[in-house]
Amino acid sequence: MQSAQLTEFGKPLVLNEIRGPEPQGREVLLETVACGVCHSDLHMADGYYDLGGGRRTYLKAAGMSLPRTLGHEVVGRVLAVGPTAEGAEAGEVRLVYPWIGCGECKECGRGASHLCGRSRAIGVFTDGGYSDHVLVPDPRFLLEIGDLRPEIACSYACAGLTAFSALRKITPLDPDDGLLIIGAGGLGLMALQLVRELTDTRVIVVDSDARKLEAAARFGNWSLIDASNRSAFAQIRTLTRRAGVAAVVDFVGSGETARLGYGSLARNGTLVVVGLYGGQLVVPTPALPLKNVTIRGSYTGSLSELRYLVSIVRAGQLRPLPAKTFPLDSAQEVLDRLRSGDIVGRAVLRPTSTPATPPAKQ
Ligand code: NAD
Ligand code: ZN
Repeated sequence: MQSAQLTEFGKPLVLNEIRGPEPQGREVLLETVACGVCHSDLHMADGYYDLGGGRRTYLKAAGMSLPRTLGHEVVGRVLAVGPTAEGAEAGEVRLVYPWIGCGECKECGRGASHLCGRSRAIGVFTDGGYSDHVLVPDPRFLLEIGDLRPEIACSYACAGLTAFSALRKITPLDPDDGLLIIGAGGLGLMALQLVRELTDTRVIVVDSDARKLEAAARFGNWSLIDASNRSAFAQIRTLTRRAGVAAVVDFVGSGETARLGYGSLARNGTLVVVGLYGGQLVVPTPALPLKNVTIRGSYTGSLSELRYLVSIVRAGQLRPLPAKTFPLDSAQEVLDRLRSGDIVGRAVLRPTSTPATPPAKQ
């Protein structure tokens, strides 16, 4: 099988021909139909997260070994199943839940494998969808997508799930509470696609790229603020009549955006940091009790949340995210374009030319 692999942190991916795995036990082997390219793949390729102040935390220390095939937003077609795998049949097209854990710890036990300290996440700690094949440890991590197109469905496994889970942490909100969304990239646009399923509060969207704001405007009637013009904070103050917003979801997570988000909070407000661009937020401690505010993070989401999200998406008439497809051998070029800010919505790899619909049963 062919895989675009990270063989050295900080270096371009390498297209490798490797032996395809035979599914054992409950494992399922899929042919990759579509794999979304997440900004987190850039952080993984770099090999670290920026902690601000010149400090870094390294993925190698967190247990990410190389070579590694990236790609955690996968839709695949079942090719073969292990001898004891039940609930998956050859030909079925499925969305993969990638945030798999050790299966033994407290988090895994309460259905929060995405928070497991010994993660086996696909595309991070095991090989992912930048390949024509993906091995999934158990059929229970496969979700039906109905008539959703694979290049649209794949990004619900991370961008959609992460946005949904973050929004669930700050809703319900009253109509005049106000919600600030920072970043209208893959995750931010997913949030705008889903936000009206959760709240009718007024929404302000900030991005530093006019093309991303243009894309945001196609999802609803929001106030749009270009962060590159330096007066973003003043504009938010004006829009909220100096009161601030009840909730902020920061899909960038740089020091600069976290400061903007924190500074925009109303009394009793909540800032949710999702993005991993990196940096630092310094907060005067008395401000936390005096303003009664909450600062919290949100990391992907659970298997049951993804099932719930996919059911909403399948039932609804949601406008799909802009998605542009690329062949597997363009994986590095796509990462380069994502880094330069050139991708609006999601770039999606199509490693095989597998048809979107499964073949009719005999
Ligand atoms: P993306 O590249 O698709 O979008 C990033 C957006 O942020 C772009 O629209 C860009 O213009 C905007 N932006 C960048 N700097 C900005 C600034 N200073 N002010 C305003 N806007 C700015 O990325 P994505 O795939 O949406 O991912 C966003 C971040 O979220 C990444 O750091 C990624 O690693 C992280 N992430 C976190 C989780 C999680 O579970 N917490 C999951 C997936 C991704
Ligand atoms: Zn992701």
